[in-house]
Amino acid sequence: MSLAIILDKSTFQSLGHNELIQLHRYYLINVTPLLVSEILGDLSKEEVENKKLPKDIVIGLANKIFPSRTYVNANYKKLLEISLTGSQVEFSNRPFLEATKSINTGTKQGLVFEETEEEKSIRRWKDGQFNSIDEVISWFWRTQSKDEDVVEVFKSKMAQFSEIKLEKKSGDNSENLKALRDSLFNELQKPENQKRYLALIIDYFDLDYNLAAEIFHRWESENHTSLEEFSPYAFFCLSIVAMYYVGINNHLFSERKTNLLDLEYLFYTPCCKVFSTNDKFLISLFNLINPKDVYFITSSSLKDDLNKFHQHQITSGEINDRPPDKETDTFRIWDKVFDLKLSDFMKAHPKSQEQLRAEFEEVLKAAESGEQGSFNGEPDFVTKTTYMRPTDPCVCGSGKQLKDCCLLKGQ
Ligand SMILES: [Zn+2]
Repeated sequence: MSLAIILDKSTFQSLGHNELIQLHRYYLINVTPLLVSEILGDLSKEEVENKKLPKDIVIGLANKIFPSRTYVNANYKKLLEISLTGSQVEFSNRPFLEATKSINTGTKQGLVFEETEEEKSIRRWKDGQFNSIDEVISWFWRTQSKDEDVVEVFKSKMAQFSEIKLEKKSGDNSENLKALRDSLFNELQKPENQKRYLALIIDYFDLDYNLAAEIFHRWESENHTSLEEFSPYAFFCLSIVAMYYVGINNHLFSERKTNLLDLEYLFYTPCCKVFSTNDKFLISLFNLINPKDVYFITSSSLKDDLNKFHQHQITSGEINDRPPDKETDTFRIWDKVFDLKLSDFMKAHPKSQEQLRAEFEEVLKAAESGEQGSFNGEPDFVTKTTYMRPTDPCVCGSGKQLKDCCLLKGQ
């Protein structure tokens, strides 16, 4: 059991080695493509005397991403595309990956995921191997994030929401923002505007021409009248950007360019169960939009939790399969999601090791059979290829390197 978590860069950066070991034990890490870009973006930072070299910062950050229990999510534009074309509606609060192969052996059906390009890059960066493409992308990322025009372009694209104003400010910022949010959602539900909002999404997210044609065709031919029903995910993304605009237009959010960039973290929240940041602006926007079934934890509470788990491990010498300290946010979220009392019962009636091993062998055989074929419904199994270096932290969560732990024991 574990929960998919998304961390923004500063949260990720703030965690030390022991905390990361605990993080990977109780959470599945959903690495967003935005985090990968932000990490690479550091490569083209200017060198500062007596400070860490940009290259070493990227190496350090890449090494914080352990290979096991970590998934790089598909880009949010892919999520938009499949949601708008109607091929997948919900993202189920777990990482969304693009399957490389779909297997159907007749008795077993499943999805096989290979290592993605991003995962390959992260693996190279850990060893300090950067190629010329990395440098170009990094440079491009930095110049783009410094572009002065982006905020103005953003404002002009969102101008149709400029009428949403507070009549009079009352209470604190958060109450004012809530009042604005209610007006915005009112506006976003208006039947006469639905098609216009669909066009706005296509324009704002810069979806390609053929895709746009396919989307409009679906809208017309299926007689849709509500964007939220047509594509819940696109509606969700639109509500984030529109809410941000309404916030700046009422001087309740700052126009900082980095805010505009950070919005992207929220686009990925349907692919996680827990979101963590210490950024006040993101916290405020998260609470206003309230992504479905996603819990929030500040980076400082997360760090505290992980330290408690580490201390518990040191003093007890035990490796736990659930958060060992009840006075933590992590435990509280686990309890809500998994109902830990019920899972105690399940644990008392476990499948035998032999049974589990036999099931595992069967899945591997099916995945390696290469018998491709499409199928409908839920897969029986999902496999994901991950490459580990001997120096990576061991999969068992001991905190030791693989070569000194399970690899040594031949497991
Ligand atoms: Zn081990």
